[in-house]
Amino acid sequence: MARSRIFVTWPMEPAARAILEAAGTVQTSPTEEEATQEELARWAASADALIPTGAHRVSEAVIAAAPRLRVIAVAAVGYNLIDVAAATRRGVLVTNTPGVLTETTADLAWGLMLAAAQRTAEADRFVRAGQWTGVTWSLLLGDDVHRATLGIVGFGRIGKAIARRARGFDMPVLYHARHPDPEAETLGAAYRAKPQLLAESDFVVLAVPLTPETRRLIGEAELSLMKPTAFLVNIARGPVVDEAALVRALRERRIAGAGLDVFEDEPRVHPGLLELTQVVLTPHIGSASRATRLAMATRAAENCVAALRGERPPNLVNPDASGKP
Ligand code: NAP
Repeated sequence: MARSRIFVTWPMEPAARAILEAAGTVQTSPTEEEATQEELARWAASADALIPTGAHRVSEAVIAAAPRLRVIAVAAVGYNLIDVAAATRRGVLVTNTPGVLTETTADLAWGLMLAAAQRTAEADRFVRAGQWTGVTWSLLLGDDVHRATLGIVGFGRIGKAIARRARGFDMPVLYHARHPDPEAETLGAAYRAKPQLLAESDFVVLAVPLTPETRRLIGEAELSLMKPTAFLVNIARGPVVDEAALVRALRERRIAGAGLDVFEDEPRVHPGLLELTQVVLTPHIGSASRATRLAMATRAAENCVAALRGERPPNLVNPDASGKP
């Protein structure tokens, strides 16, 4: 039987690559740069398996141009850039990497909360610019995080990991999701409808997947419910927030600040956000620790190999796909 051909869209970590090599011939992209749709289609055309990062869009056109393709093993938990419906129609399995990046992403959510409230990114720029001339009483005054009310929208793996960290900060925790969560009570988190959560929270952290329902979950109306002293943190996906509405709310001081790891049109950042000092910006690095990247690559490789062996991969997201022999 011919060996499976596996294409990986970045120069994969050797330990994860070794898992794939047991199941087929592996080709990796020579660079980490985002591939064009044409490049991706060319790579996928002769592949049995494609392993993209969460930043690669795998459109219907790419899937249609890949007659042998059996599995798309995304190295991310969010698979919103994959046309899952098109994959399912063509019998292609899609998998993701839930769980292995939860704690790292929760850490970054906290980093953004702290940085926005304590103005640490702004303070760093201030020192580097040589503007620090003495210790003055009201220099770069910020806001406290401890004992503030934390509101988490999306109370899944990452939302709960963010909530667990709030204990050490002595914070009341509110959460919103479509369904109240049985674990919430043990985490000390209270359910709120979205408008109530927005009105009561000092920090609103978004940890939902991007779906048709969560696109622009936070727009003009939602921002207007937040306290003028509150901060918005988005570690979910950019399109969950209406960026233009956020810029207006920040400019008009209708909310105090924001910490953003994700953007509507990455890597483009709304120019209005770049002008605002009360916003902390990071370039989609929520899961970017050395250990977690390796864990994501490993999990993607394991999912890929299971699919190629005709087994049900551990993290199958489209169980309706028939698979290919
Ligand atoms: P998860 O365990 O599936 O949790 C998702 C949560 O969102 C659940 O509580 C779900 O509850 C809720 N939810 C879904 N649709 C909703 C809606 N319409 N309104 C309100 N709540 C909704 O996912 P996870 O592992 O925590 O990851 C969450 C997302 O974080 C990922 O999908 C990914 O996009 C993002 N992420 C970003 C980074 C980064 O680098 N910045 C890293 C990792 C993950 P219900 O079903 O009850 O509504």
